[in-house]
Amino acid sequence: MDKVLESLLLSDGISGYEENIAKIMTSSLSKVCSNVETDNFGNVIGKFGNGNKKIMIAAHMDEIGMIVKHVNEKGYIYFIKVGGINDSILPGKIVKIINKEGKHITGVIGTKPPHLMTAEEAKKPIQYTNMFIDIGLPSKEEVLKIIDVGDQIIFDPNAGVLNGDFYYGKSADNRICCYTMIKVMERISKINGLNAQVFACATAQEEVGLKGGKTSSFKINPDFALIIDTTVAGDMPGIEEKVSSLKLGKGVAITMVEASGRGTIVPQKIRKLILETANENKIQHQIDIIDSGMTDGAIIYTNREGILTGILSIPTRYIHAPTSVFNIKDINSAIDLAVKIIEKVAK
Ligand SMILES: [Zn+2]
Repeated sequence: MDKVLESLLLSDGISGYEENIAKIMTSSLSKVCSNVETDNFGNVIGKFGNGNKKIMIAAHMDEIGMIVKHVNEKGYIYFIKVGGINDSILPGKIVKIINKEGKHITGVIGTKPPHLMTAEEAKKPIQYTNMFIDIGLPSKEEVLKIIDVGDQIIFDPNAGVLNGDFYYGKSADNRICCYTMIKVMERISKINGLNAQVFACATAQEEVGLKGGKTSSFKINPDFALIIDTTVAGDMPGIEEKVSSLKLGKGVAITMVEASGRGTIVPQKIRKLILETANENKIQHQIDIIDSGMTDGAIIYTNREGILTGILSIPTRYIHAPTSVFNIKDINSAIDLAVKIIEKVAK
């Protein structure tokens, strides 16, 4: 596995706690941008080129996770969720609580075992408010020596190759797109005479309301924004093709409508531009129309007086779980298509 991709997947950074992932983005973008800065909000923005048009690429760098809320007398830790997490995936999972020194404290999410549940309790899904994290310390006092209320909690970092082109990793949403953006900037920086200023923006706090996309696109005020994010793949048991026809290994997804129109409705002329670019360059792609879920695109295209926005998505299985599965070929087709779109817009 590519070392940069691996480090992005293993890094920590739930919404509002992006310091460490921002460091990786800063050092990676510094190699291919003339200027990289972190703004007041925590977005990392790299710039390349001096041409007329302003083009923004946005990939959010935050991940879903949890925050320490309360420690009880026996040393069990209660938490809040940050971002869309289904409670059913939590019991029994290994997590890391990251303390103020940056140390990773291992914990296990505990719940009452089935043996002790009443018949009534066994029927109902367990709520996260009835779960707790066990770090193997016997008292509140001991626990509070090494962690603080307010510390971030991430799923146990993992990343690797499953088989062939199929990879897995924590926080694939959206670190695989942060990787895609770095690779796009590498390619863009080698194009001679590109008539554009290209801004690569690793946005903060997307998972909790598309916040970094709002502030960064206001600052950059681009002529065109290209959002890169993951999208839900449908090639697994229990999902009908009519619900999601996206398949891993079948190319980048061109997202046209999000959240049944409550998210981004990509303008017709941008859809045409992206589709034509994919076809002209024979880049494998799929079309993505989403019932629910949205990206930074939704806030960027409504910012200021409206910003022309396109969205490229990478189909991913088991999104918002402790690990997700994706296909490296789809990342490569996203890189190819993004570079060609930027070249075209810059003309
Ligand atoms: Zn995402």
